[in-house]
Amino acid sequence: MNLRHLLTACVIATLSSTFAFAIEHVSLERDSKSIHVDGKIIVEAADGGLLVQDASGVLWAITPDEIVNRDSDAIPFAPADHDAMSERLLKEFPDGFRVHKTAHYLVCYNTSQAYAQWCGALYERLFLAFNTYWKNRGFKLHEPEIPLVALVFDSQRSYAAYARPELGEATSKIIGYYSLRSNRVVMYDLTGSEAGGGNSRATAAHINRLLMRPGAERTVATVIHEATHQIAFNCGLQTRYADIPLWVSEGVAIYFETPDLRSSKGWRNIGGVNRVRLSEFRRYLRNRPSDSLATLVSNDERFRDPRIASDAYAEAWALNYFLIHKHPKDYLAYMKVLSEKLPLRYDDPKDRQALFKECFGEDVEKLNTEFLRYMRTVR
Ligand SMILES: [Zn+2]
Repeated sequence: MNLRHLLTACVIATLSSTFAFAIEHVSLERDSKSIHVDGKIIVEAADGGLLVQDASGVLWAITPDEIVNRDSDAIPFAPADHDAMSERLLKEFPDGFRVHKTAHYLVCYNTSQAYAQWCGALYERLFLAFNTYWKNRGFKLHEPEIPLVALVFDSQRSYAAYARPELGEATSKIIGYYSLRSNRVVMYDLTGSEAGGGNSRATAAHINRLLMRPGAERTVATVIHEATHQIAFNCGLQTRYADIPLWVSEGVAIYFETPDLRSSKGWRNIGGVNRVRLSEFRRYLRNRPSDSLATLVSNDERFRDPRIASDAYAEAWALNYFLIHKHPKDYLAYMKVLSEKLPLRYDDPKDRQALFKECFGEDVEKLNTEFLRYMRTVR
């Protein structure tokens, strides 16, 4: 879904987070259905289009022609807490679903309880590792405003039925995703029939054994990758619907995706060399165009083209890896500027290049040479 078409580029008001939000009530008509949304206005466009966040964190991009009625009241907006959110989830998924609560997550599932617990524990470890990582580098993140929701379906089929409206044709190829719109991570039980989706006897040890098999590594990496996006967009590293270059948001998610299931305490591997992406990057180097760095940082086109997207992902990982290791202060400054970006304000390629040069130096050619030299030493 292209948000540029939903709201005009001419945004007149992006409300600051320090503003005490009143609740806005919006009635709208979409696809011949009447919908009512209560939430806080994130953006109000000049033409009357709205971006509204409801109490459960769902973002509603509403065009002026969809709005039937709107009013607000003096009651301040309050995001849903664990209990309220849990109640909402069980109302939305009534049949056979349960909710497993952890400190920051609600895992809503209809598979085995052991699998939901395994996910909750994995995500809490990731959450801690991610926050500690940035704190140690001088970027203190904040607690999520709303509990983080992970939906875990018992089978690919039930997952696909839920995911298809969002993913369309790609549903069968995507084993899990983070939705910027709903703020949820969505996936299915990866142990499949072996642990028995919904098999109440599956134990954490059994699940770990299955997922530690060599072939399962990339699958688990995907689950972690998507959860990393969710944390980044909920703890202040990035803002949903802000114009975060994909080489950064994807690069960060890949940087954290290396799973380390053997360590019960956490991510010994955080920021370790991502072997899969490194070998993809090496392969790409054989035919890498001389303007590759410039195209990567100026726009997201290479990520949108399925024929070359995997090269873009690999280069995004490599560039983040290089900058984190060789230019940590500049990288941090850049991340801080990006974290201030407001929703639905889009930069053109020139703006992106200018910000990149402001943070990493005017001489992109020199940086490119240093980048390639450094990546040849990474083993
Ligand atoms: Zn991603």
